[in-house]
Amino acid sequence: MIQIHRLLQLQKLDTEIDEKKKRLGDVLKAQNEPQALQTTRKKAETVTSDLKTWIGKHTELTLEIEGVVTKTKSSEERLYSGEVTKPKELAELQAEVEALGRRKMLLEDEVRQAFGKMEAAEEGKITLDEELETAVSSWDSQSAHLKAEQNKLALSLHKLMQTRKAKAAIINAASMKEYDHLRKQKNGLAVAGLRVNMCLGCRTTVSANKAREVDEGHVVYCGGCGRLLGSV
Ligand SMILES: [Zn+2]
Repeated sequence: MIQIHRLLQLQKLDTEIDEKKKRLGDVLKAQNEPQALQTTRKKAETVTSDLKTWIGKHTELTLEIEGVVTKTKSSEERLYSGEVTKPKELAELQAEVEALGRRKMLLEDEVRQAFGKMEAAEEGKITLDEELETAVSSWDSQSAHLKAEQNKLALSLHKLMQTRKAKAAIINAASMKEYDHLRKQKNGLAVAGLRVNMCLGCRTTVSANKAREVDEGHVVYCGGCGRLLGSV
């Protein structure tokens, strides 16, 4: 004997459980950090590393210029000291001072470029850090909501499953077998509600006779979808 009324109650619970499980899955998935935030984070990391590189380069070049200046100074001192008298040596010193001068100009050009890059990276870093901060805080509040919903769903599912266990325990084996079979066959819905002669499982209308039988608690299958019908 199929216990249609109890199966309808069980179906209502299972439908709710299925919906909540699906939502829980979505909520868990939605808690992965969004792509846009990951991209901003990556960009901020890149610009920070660029800035570090250009600061390093700028420092390196500045030190090299200082070295060239020192070397030029000592060569010039020697050149004009009067200690060097041999024309060949003097010419060599002169050439060295000139070469150092050219090197210094080149380095100064490079240091200006490095400074420009450093400034651009600094500005970029400020913008991206702000962007990242905004994105992180907006994501934090969003994920806090998701986390709260997740906890609520988990708690609710726990209670529903307990209720389901109790309800299922008082249903006979034949009914459960038919119910489980139909659940598998009919996309999770074994018992469809019947409202004003319409099967809520497939939206077809059943005859007045059938509807009456359903109301009286008889076991009736929908001619449209083959589900058990329960009066709601
Ligand atoms: Zn139907």
